Amino acid sequence: MMPLPFAEPYRIKMVEPIHRSTRPDREKWIGEARYNLFNLKSQHVYIDLLTDSGTGAMSQEQWSAMMIGDESYAGSRSFEKLRDTINELTGFPHVLPTHQGRAAENVLFSALVGEGDVIPGNAHFDTTRGHIEFRKATAVDCTVDAAGQTGLYHPFKGNVDIQKLESVINQYGVERIPLIIVTITCNSTGGQPVSMENLRAVRHCSEKYGIPLFLDAARFAENAYFIKIREEGYANRSIREIVREMFSYADGMTMSSKKDGIVNIGGFIAMNNQELYRKASAFNILFEGFLTYGGMAGRDMAALAQGLTEAMEFDYLESRVLQVEYLGTSLRDYGIPVQEPFGGHAIFVDATRFLPHVRKEEFIAQTLAVELYLEAGVRSVEIGTLLADRDPVTHANRYPKLEMVRLTIPRRVYTRNHMDYVAAALKNVYDRREQITSGYRIVWEAPIMRHFTVELEKTF
Ligand SMILES: *Cc1c(COP(=O)(O)O)cnc(C)c1O
Repeated sequence: MMPLPFAEPYRIKMVEPIHRSTRPDREKWIGEARYNLFNLKSQHVYIDLLTDSGTGAMSQEQWSAMMIGDESYAGSRSFEKLRDTINELTGFPHVLPTHQGRAAENVLFSALVGEGDVIPGNAHFDTTRGHIEFRKATAVDCTVDAAGQTGLYHPFKGNVDIQKLESVINQYGVERIPLIIVTITCNSTGGQPVSMENLRAVRHCSEKYGIPLFLDAARFAENAYFIKIREEGYANRSIREIVREMFSYADGMTMSSKKDGIVNIGGFIAMNNQELYRKASAFNILFEGFLTYGGMAGRDMAALAQGLTEAMEFDYLESRVLQVEYLGTSLRDYGIPVQEPFGGHAIFVDATRFLPHVRKEEFIAQTLAVELYLEAGVRSVEIGTLLADRDPVTHANRYPKLEMVRLTIPRRVYTRNHMDYVAAALKNVYDRREQITSGYRIVWEAPIMRHFTVELEKTF
């Protein structure tokens, strides 16, 4: 008997046309975009794997929830629905809605982080690090060393190295460490999950030193899926139970709802401590809006409450993670170096191993991302030296351990044929890799988070 392959647990009710283009068109467009893929018009992209952030497809239940959103300024019924959903899912009693994840960071850090502080974690996300450095504080990466070795199998490459964490605490002292942030899944190391055992160990450390632990929980449901599949003792636990246990080890969370909330915009903060909630509330009102909408429309909060619930359905999570895995396996079968095991939301291509002739000073991963666009109109994103930015003190380029191109899969958007197209396109680039020997230099860059707006020119 033939084993049945997995298939999406949904069918398509509305379609959005996308268009192919010619290579001369793409050469013109990417030149006009100063070789920065963020500057491309979306109609000049055929398959868009720039990000999984806010790019997912909402369900019929989410669209119908939008119709009954309550747009009241204060005391919105849609906020109550959202808060109740978050309470039930996470156990955190206090909820502040924000317009996205970085806004949640801004509000929380305004209440907690000051100049000279140190915030340890597992490869902080770029906006998280941006908000920390903007406050003249320092983010210290304590990820396990295995995360830096793309060929090595480790089931939880997002894990925090507890020894590194303790040595950071001992080096800087508890007074300078207002919180620990653990990102689930860890985006910056390749969408890699954090195990329950590791969360428990970080909790132990946070209690031992009396430092609050917050989860950057943008992909909490994908993290729970990996715990269920890979961690001993969790195979028979429901995603809901696993999610609840994950959050039980933390004092609070920040959330970009554009990921596992499966909505196009939104975020929130949730926490246990009422005093902190009150302190953060003042900043929420200042930056985001009143406490029962925080920069979101009532209809967006209604869709989010539904999306959070759908994100925890096992069949959905399985089809999502298996679609990502399908792309990864196709690339690996072509001999292309990819980060393994495959992450939850994206495949990370090891650009240094892919393009051995491009110097790191010429932005290896960016060079590869531009080549993939030129080849087939596929937009990916650089996770390398441009993203790593400059050292805030010395202003020297920071060369990260990994130069990667991320192929990020939006939720419930593309089909297996799209994945085949992307894999074939990258294979074609791989076949001509020997001819790619030079990259780009910076013409203009912003003082912080330069990758979004940087302008480049060819070095050849
Ligand atoms: C996307 C993301 C953020 C920032 O959220 P936005 O909604 O884009 O502002 C923070 N942390 C992680 C892990 C993310 O993936």
